[in-house]
Amino acid sequence: MNVVSIMAHQDDEMFCLGTMLKCRKRGDSLFFITITDGSKGFVQNPGISRKKAAAIRHREMSALVRAAGGRYINLREHDEFLYDTPELRLRLIEALRETRAQLVFTHYHNDYNLDHVTAHYLVKQCAMHAPLPVLRTKSEPLPEAPAVFLIEPHGPILFPATHYTDISAEFEEKASLLLRHASQEKAMQDALGTGIKALTARTAAFRGQQVGCAYAECFCPMEARGAIKTYQVLP
Ligand SMILES: [Zn+2]
Repeated sequence: MNVVSIMAHQDDEMFCLGTMLKCRKRGDSLFFITITDGSKGFVQNPGISRKKAAAIRHREMSALVRAAGGRYINLREHDEFLYDTPELRLRLIEALRETRAQLVFTHYHNDYNLDHVTAHYLVKQCAMHAPLPVLRTKSEPLPEAPAVFLIEPHGPILFPATHYTDISAEFEEKASLLLRHASQEKAMQDALGTGIKALTARTAAFRGQQVGCAYAECFCPMEARGAIKTYQVLP
């Protein structure tokens, strides 16, 4: 199966990466699409230029994806100013086709960050449209819409988790991969006094205790045309 994370920013794959590593163990191919360039993620260095910041985020994400054995597509829209445009929809449809997406992870529709919410609705529309020949892009249309699962949001938002994956065996690899986002580790330490590994460990342990394992990730299916399958897609 071709498994694709489609997130607004580099590091938003935080709540599905363990499951993707589990997918890789069953022989799946991994793809990571980020819609923005991540250039505003520099709490620790507000004066940094967009170009320089975007280059750092691209380099860090590329290193993570390389280590995970996947492929990375960066759509490089303006971080924190993500808008749904006709041009961007076609680029995302093309990315879904290029990756031959069969299982997609993306953001929940309620979230603290509007880029995440916009990414959710872009995926909802583009995943439905990726099989339609009337919307022409470079690659062939998909044979069917991919399954889409939503990751839990950060912050005080109720999330209706329906599907859990046990990532106890993948947790250490997931945490060490996420530390490739060195600039975000620094930003998080400066802003919150806690790092990426501690945050993911807390969340995965909380979800794990809900279902009787050490570490888990949780999801709910996207309520969209074609996104819910009658066959098993999660590992
Ligand atoms: Zn984000």
